[in-house]
Amino acid sequence: MGYRYETHLHTCQASACGRSTGAEHVRYYKALGYDGIFITDHFFRGNCAVDRSLPWPEKVRLFCDGYRDAKAEGDRIGLQVFFAWEESIDGDDYLVYGCDEDWLLRHPEIEHATRREQLELAHANGGCVVQAHPFRMRDYIKRILLGWRYCDAVEVANAGNRPQDDVCAYRYAKEFGFPMTCGSDNHRSGFETRDPAVTWGIETETRLTCPQDYVKLILSGGPIKLLCPSERFQFQPGMTIEESYWLDEKEQPVATGRDWLKE
Ligand SMILES: [Zn+2]
Ligand SMILES: [Zn+2]
Repeated sequence: MGYRYETHLHTCQASACGRSTGAEHVRYYKALGYDGIFITDHFFRGNCAVDRSLPWPEKVRLFCDGYRDAKAEGDRIGLQVFFAWEESIDGDDYLVYGCDEDWLLRHPEIEHATRREQLELAHANGGCVVQAHPFRMRDYIKRILLGWRYCDAVEVANAGNRPQDDVCAYRYAKEFGFPMTCGSDNHRSGFETRDPAVTWGIETETRLTCPQDYVKLILSGGPIKLLCPSERFQFQPGMTIEESYWLDEKEQPVATGRDWLKE
């Protein structure tokens, strides 16, 4: 039996679309038998709940409120709570792990960093970047941008995705040899509103003692079991996909011309 972690989750304190507090999420995952959760609220170019016009230290403090609430409850009832965030650059989203609140206070340049700078900043601190749901199409996403140069791993299963998004992401990650992660992108916890069967995460063989343990696992290609149904990665008739784009060295989109569902 391994250790179960949620890797992708939003609180209502720091994400404008979040519906549960950090503490509510913690109680739900504890009841599900998870060992821990990563809080990945929408950062300042995403659907952040924090007023972007505030001074940087104040913004960072408010951004960490959801995490702090979760951490306090996690310490009380026995669930590990780790800090991370999800940044949105041009509709392509990245989960950044391994940097904490103190690091943010010292690195205000992260707010407007390019994808390349974001990756370099994370690496310089022993962190890593995972592209979240790369094949998702939503109203806030203009096109499918594949940031393979700008991440260390790919989130291949996301409980908020259309199934075909995950089929494509899985094939893409496999072809490129990316470590794979899985998460719920959970905005609302609670047994009345959320089906535990579509609450996904990862399982590790050893207990993560800190976010850096997860980073090391990703960067070393260590074993990460995906906690989602295996059918999630199987092509089903009727699935269709939009054009996808590579992000080139200048971070400009170049059509892939690929049909990820057919190949
Ligand atoms: Zn959201
Ligand atoms: Zn998310």
